[in-house]
Order: sequence, then structure tokens, then C-alpha cells
Amino acid sequence: MTNTYKFNDTSMLVEHFSVSEFRCKCGGSHDTIINPELPEKLERLFKALNCSAIVINSGYRCPTHSVNVGGSTTDFHTKGYAADIICYDQSGNKISSKKVSCAAQDVGFGGIANIDSTYTATHVDVRTSNFWKGDEVVTSDYSVTDDFYSYYGIPKSSGNVSITSAIVARGIDVSEHQGVIDWDRVKASGKVDFAIFRAGYGKESSQVDKQFERNYSECKRLNIPVSAYWYSCPI
Ligand SMILES: [Zn+2]
Ligand SMILES: [Zn+2]
Repeated sequence: MTNTYKFNDTSMLVEHFSVSEFRCKCGGSHDTIINPELPEKLERLFKALNCSAIVINSGYRCPTHSVNVGGSTTDFHTKGYAADIICYDQSGNKISSKKVSCAAQDVGFGGIANIDSTYTATHVDVRTSNFWKGDEVVTSDYSVTDDFYSYYGIPKSSGNVSITSAIVARGIDVSEHQGVIDWDRVKASGKVDFAIFRAGYGKESSQVDKQFERNYSECKRLNIPVSAYWYSCPI
């Protein structure tokens, strides 16, 4: 599925990306084709890496331009599925393509590749299968990886790549097993945006969670948004 935009369309597709950023750079003034998943995933990448900017060096390419820059008439740039990008951190420095590749993997891009010898430019596309390449232009290692973290030796827990900035709200799931919760302390921590309660379990209405009523009234008192579930095991 793709959308087609007039050459002079400058409307925003998502918070940080407009149609004009995906324009073909052949010099012509033809339409721009964009798969809507591309700006959506770029937006998620922007947040996952806590970028100050992502510059699209090349987005949509008409078949003629694609051939002129070394591609084919049918590659993912000509379909509106792909972008070659450089990501900038909050200090305005380029983020390593190694980190960008890891984050692009987390975001769910189908095609990912480092495309320059200094690890600053990254190709991403929204094909449905996975095709991930790393060191091709650096060491002529043409192998495909299924995990950029291990490929580049970046520990997943290192904090090198953070998806925390993409989190919109944090919640806790509690029941009587957490005991009598000090909800004033929960509120004061500033780390909990909502709570979900086990209201009860099994098929008997008498099996109400022993802390449910209190957890509910405490959260209401402290204006903590709540929801609840009834725990059961299908048999
Ligand atoms: Zn063109
Ligand atoms: Zn590309």
C-alpha cells in the first residue's frame, strides 16, 4: 500500500517528517510515492534514539534516478518503501549506524543496512521480510544478520540504545500478592502513571482479590488512573 503526493506537497506525515523530505532528488518535479509505514516507523526510530533530527538523504526515487545512483528500477526506493538516513543526537552529533541499526531492528524495519564506511548513514525500508546487513561497505562482509546487537557487539542492556523515550506511560499490575501497598509512596515516586488491578480470580464471584477494594479506593483518592482484570485459566 502506498500513497502518491504532488511534487510541491509539503504537508506533515507524522510529527517530524513531511512529504517533501521523501522527494526524489533527480531534479524533476514528478509525484512522490510513500508507503505510510515508512514515516510511522521513522517517527518511532526518532523517539527510540532520542534524536534531535533525522535527515533523509534519499527517500523516494523514480526508476531513472534509482539507476543513476546505482540502484535498480524496482528496488525499495522506487516503491516508496525506503529511506537513507542520518540520525543526530541531542548534541547535534551523528549517531553511529550501528546503534541506528539496533534501534531500527527494535522498531521493526524489514530492510536495514549500514551504507557508508564511517557508519553514519543507514538504509531502512518497510519490506515485510527481514534483510539486515551491516559491514558490507566496510569490510565487504556480505553476510546477513538476524540480530544487530550481537552482530555489532552492542549489549542490549547497555543503554546504548534506549527505547524508553518511546514509552508514553508506565503502569503497575498489582494484586493481594503485593500486600498492603503504600499508595502515597507510589504516587510520590513519580514513576507510576497508572495501575491495573487483579479484581479476582476463577469462576466464583466470592474470589475477589483481598486488596482490590482498597487498591481501587486509594488510587481514586490519589487520582491515579486505574483499570482491572479478572484472572482466569481457560480449560
Ligand atoms: Zn525522480
Ligand atoms: Zn537505500
